[in-house]
Amino acid sequence: MNLHSTINPNNSEILNNTSLTNIYNREINQINSQQKTSWTVEDSEKLYRIQGWGSPYFSINAAGHVTVSPKGDLGGSIDLYELVESIKQRNIGLPLIIRFSDILEDRIERLNACFSKAIARYKYKNTYRGVYPVKCNQNRLLVEEIVKFGQPHKFGLEAGSKPELLIAIAALNTTDALIICNGYKDREYIETAMLAQRLGKTPILVIEQVEEVNLAIEASRKLNIQPVVGVRVKLSTKGIGRWAGTTGDRAKFGLNIPEIIQVVNQLKNAGILDSLQLLHFHVGSQISSINVIKDAIREGSQIYVELAQLGANMKYLDVGGGLGVDYDGSKTNFYASKNYDMQNYANDIVAEVKEACEEKNILPPILVSESGRAVASHQSVLVFDVLGVSQMPKEEPVVIGKDEHLILQNLYETYQSISKDNYQEAYHDAIQFKEESISLFNFGYLSMSDRAKVEQLYWGCFRKIQTILKDSEYIPDDLEELEKIMASIYYINLSVFQSAPDSWAINQLFPIMPIHRLDEEPAERAILADLTCDSDGKIDQFIDLREIKSLLELHTLKVSDRSAPNSTHQKSVNEQKAITSIYEPYYLAMFLGGGYQEIMGNLHNLFGGVNVVHIKLKPSSYTIEHVVKGDTMTEVLSYVQYNSESLVESIRCQTEAALQKEKITIQESRILLQNYESSLASYTYLSDS
Ligand SMILES: *Cc1c(COP(=O)(O)O)cnc(C)c1O
Repeated sequence: MNLHSTINPNNSEILNNTSLTNIYNREINQINSQQKTSWTVEDSEKLYRIQGWGSPYFSINAAGHVTVSPKGDLGGSIDLYELVESIKQRNIGLPLIIRFSDILEDRIERLNACFSKAIARYKYKNTYRGVYPVKCNQNRLLVEEIVKFGQPHKFGLEAGSKPELLIAIAALNTTDALIICNGYKDREYIETAMLAQRLGKTPILVIEQVEEVNLAIEASRKLNIQPVVGVRVKLSTKGIGRWAGTTGDRAKFGLNIPEIIQVVNQLKNAGILDSLQLLHFHVGSQISSINVIKDAIREGSQIYVELAQLGANMKYLDVGGGLGVDYDGSKTNFYASKNYDMQNYANDIVAEVKEACEEKNILPPILVSESGRAVASHQSVLVFDVLGVSQMPKEEPVVIGKDEHLILQNLYETYQSISKDNYQEAYHDAIQFKEESISLFNFGYLSMSDRAKVEQLYWGCFRKIQTILKDSEYIPDDLEELEKIMASIYYINLSVFQSAPDSWAINQLFPIMPIHRLDEEPAERAILADLTCDSDGKIDQFIDLREIKSLLELHTLKVSDRSAPNSTHQKSVNEQKAITSIYEPYYLAMFLGGGYQEIMGNLHNLFGGVNVVHIKLKPSSYTIEHVVKGDTMTEVLSYVQYNSESLVESIRCQTEAALQKEKITIQESRILLQNYESSLASYTYLSDS
């Protein structure tokens, strides 16, 4: 952790440090406000590519704040920065997930509108009935909203496990909406799904393993219910990207063609072949190329037609998930993007299925898709604050005299001589001299203060070279590392493992940017380091026009007036306590993380679930519909079997024993117990209130 993120009024060392930093930062602040004139919000728009990934929901206003238009093109917008400030005033701290229900509704409307349009355009003689795969984000309030917004479209739910089936059956009350039952099944799963028919629901049991068909036949006899059955096929169409292995012979799920024929025969022998009504396939998530989708639909349509010809009572074709999200806004088949839009997707599905069915004179099926990512990603914005920064030293190197060690003189000479003509050579010289001086130090030939001078000179050289590089059009390959070496580290009040697990686990890219000060030039290049004490707890890959960049442009932190040590007004004790950062608040947000991140997030270092608020747009403003408080320390500790009362009791006993031995004063013991107990009841993240 950065020292500067905590300020202790009793520690003069830190205060001294702070006042130096203050002076330095005031200068920087002045420079920044001078630069302000030339930098515009349009420059920020371009830099962070917000139109590419954010349209029509996110943009930047004239004040330099990110704004949210939850209803997309339908109008109405909210200033995200002001929203965060007003949520904080309600005592709900960062990090914070803000859910925009209107965005969720817009996504569901859009998906259905795209299929309606495609169906009209190709005169397709059946309908679309989508389902939301619950695994993408199972939060009750979200699933309930999806059910509500989906009602006009008979939008259903997909379950991939027994617990998700329990959610789907309880939550879905839309007549004729489908409950697609995927995943591994046992007798209980199958019977429960079948019995849901008696509640007026439409469950479809998708056979993913050959054995499941026997369980279904047995349950059907036992309960005297005719199930609706589907089969999931392993397509041979090759997937793309991270989830390419979802298809092909070695795929984990689904049946190969001989197995499907076996299932057909078993159902026929049991006299219930007419229960087989659905064909399902899934070629993986985040399909970045439309060609993969087309190939899959073509293969799937043929299998559908064949099943109908084999005598199955085919009614539904379920094309699975995979509809991508354009995380980097590049509209390419790069893994963080997609080279098609939702309308292209719907058009291709409708057109391919229609063609295959017409050719063989088969009635076209009800089309089902299981889009998770494309429905749930946009509605959630994760806002977090920056606690502090670690930067490469910026002070000028000292002059090296003729009597000092030769290596110091060499490095000094290199430093002084750096120019446009020799910077590349100087770069390598500086590295070499530094390495040599470390060896000299290790063998006792250089003192600690010599080594300090070496490091100052070394950073001085890099700074000079960086300035030259800023103005040059061409950066030699061997100097590309320099930017990374010189980058700042911004410490963020977040756990990557809890809030952006895919960024850690599979290098997924999410758009991340400041939500204010966007009318100022971001003068720093930085990576983000989180609160965990794990060196993997960082974000150092960011979206870019071409593939990825390793540094994010951020604004120089401003030192807060309220933390200035010589501040004229006398602070009360309470005010002093309220300060955890010496900086003015600087808020960043991660966008498009509404799918998978919340449930995959883990409790590394016991950072728990974050606060969530649900925002609904109103004609003149908005309302906070729900607040779901993040985990307290008591809660996360209970997940690992600690009982907070026993913990307090243990500390109380130990304090009592220390008091007896006069190792602690009564005042100290009171503060210790107070802090211990209030920590247990509070948020696991750092707070400034
Ligand atoms: C995960 C999954 C989905 C959702 O995929 P998205 O790419 O998020 O739309 C759909 N169907 C099945 C079978 C899945 O496993």
